[in-house]
Amino acid sequence: MKEILIISGKGGTGKTSVTAAFAHLAEGAVICDLDVDAPDLHLILDPVNKSTHDFISGNQAKVVPDKCDGCGKCVELCRFQALSLKDGKAVVDGFNCEGCKVCVTFCPAEAIDFPDNFCGRWYISESRLGPMVHAQLFPGEENSGRLVALLRQEARKIADNARADLIISDGPPGIGCPVISSLSGCDLAVIVTEPTQSAIHDLERVAELCAHFKVPACVLVNKADLNPSLAKDIERRAKQGGLVNVGRLPFDKIFVQAVLAGKAVTEIDSSQNAAALRKAWQKIQSILNNGKIDSKGEAER
Ligand code: SF4
Ligand code: SF4
Repeated sequence: MKEILIISGKGGTGKTSVTAAFAHLAEGAVICDLDVDAPDLHLILDPVNKSTHDFISGNQAKVVPDKCDGCGKCVELCRFQALSLKDGKAVVDGFNCEGCKVCVTFCPAEAIDFPDNFCGRWYISESRLGPMVHAQLFPGEENSGRLVALLRQEARKIADNARADLIISDGPPGIGCPVISSLSGCDLAVIVTEPTQSAIHDLERVAELCAHFKVPACVLVNKADLNPSLAKDIERRAKQGGLVNVGRLPFDKIFVQAVLAGKAVTEIDSSQNAAALRKAWQKIQSILNNGKIDSKGEAER
């Protein structure tokens, strides 16, 4: 079983639309939305939910007001400024509490509980393009890396049971903890970028991350015709850095129209864009089947 991750150093490059198109072209892959902070692949795939699960991660202090005598010891001890006194009782600021348990341990009145932290929900669903695993972290919650790891584990179980040989994941933006959790152990990262200076900067950072985790990576330039010379420069730099260029997509409002219609671009388009996506997908399959990239930065055939 192979795992492909679609990522982009920055948001807004069309990563999710590309993921949906590849999920459509792959036929029968397990689909995973690892952008747990701001998931939107479900808007295109409109999955039917089969099971919902709570995501519990860590613990958080909770003062029992009736037991608190307002001595203020917990306020003094908390290194994260998560406790204060209000109307003679201790109050926890949930956004600052790091769950270190110091206040719970040293409260003389045993007035602080330490319940599990309910951070979000994750789902197993069925979409028209295949089984889907996705999640939504609650606003302000952390531990997205752990949730990503959990989703990948569930996707592998589903793929095993269904004898599916491919998992396609829509990765989180940026290069932080959830991206690292998405990337480690993947068979191939597809970096979707666009011809702007900020996208190039972010592409370089995400490519470094792939190299660090020894994940082969390829590059797909979206909206390439908005700045053809910069698009060419991206491809040149990518090749120099050992990345495979799998194609260019022209700027096309079909991307927005497809999202509004709840479809993958390749489901409704027979134009240049869909053709470029099909060609890119063939090249990606070739890389996956070969398992390596040759010295010229091309997929070996
Ligand atoms: S240490 Fe316990 S009793 Fe004292 S203020 Fe904090 S919660 Fe209340
Ligand atoms: S658990 Fe730790 S971080 Fe949270 S309120 Fe208590 S002392 Fe502060």
